[in-house]
Amino acid sequence: MAYSYDDSNIFARILRGEIPNNTVAETEYTLAFRDIRPLAPSHVLVIPKGKYVAMDDFAENASAEEIVDFMRVVAQVAKAEGLSTGDGGNGFRAITNAGNDGVQEVPHFHLHILGGRVMGPMILLRD
Ligand code: 5GP
Repeated sequence: MAYSYDDSNIFARILRGEIPNNTVAETEYTLAFRDIRPLAPSHVLVIPKGKYVAMDDFAENASAEEIVDFMRVVAQVAKAEGLSTGDGGNGFRAITNAGNDGVQEVPHFHLHILGGRVMGPMILLRD
C-alpha cells in the first residue's frame, strides 16, 4: 500500500506559512525549527519540505538531493546548537517516531534532535 499524506497535518501548515515557527535552519528542501514542547534544553525538529509521512516513506521515495540536504541540515543544527561531536559539543540524541507503534503524533516525517543534557536510557520499556 502507498503512503498516504494528510495535507492538514500541523507541519504541512507550518510549511505553508499558516502557523509560525521558530526556525533554526532552512534550505531549499529542509526546515529545522524548535519543538513547541521541548523535552531537553535543545529540542529541534528537522523536517523535509516534501510530503513524506514518516522516515520509511522519505527513505524510499525522496530524491538523493533531498536526503543529502536533510542530513546536512542535521549537522548544521548540531553545530548551531553547540551539540556537534566534531565541534567540542557534548552530543545529542536523534529520534524519529513512525506510525502507530512508533507513537508518531504528527504524520509528516521529522527527526527530533535533543541535547543540552544527558539523555538517559535509550527507551523505557513498559507494558
Ligand atoms: P512525534 O510524536 O510525532 O514524533 O512528535 C511531534 C512533535 O511535534 C512533538 O514533540 C510536539 O511537541 C511537536 N509539535 C506539535 N505541534 C507543534 C507545533 O505547532 N509547533 C512546533 N514547533 N512543534 C509542534
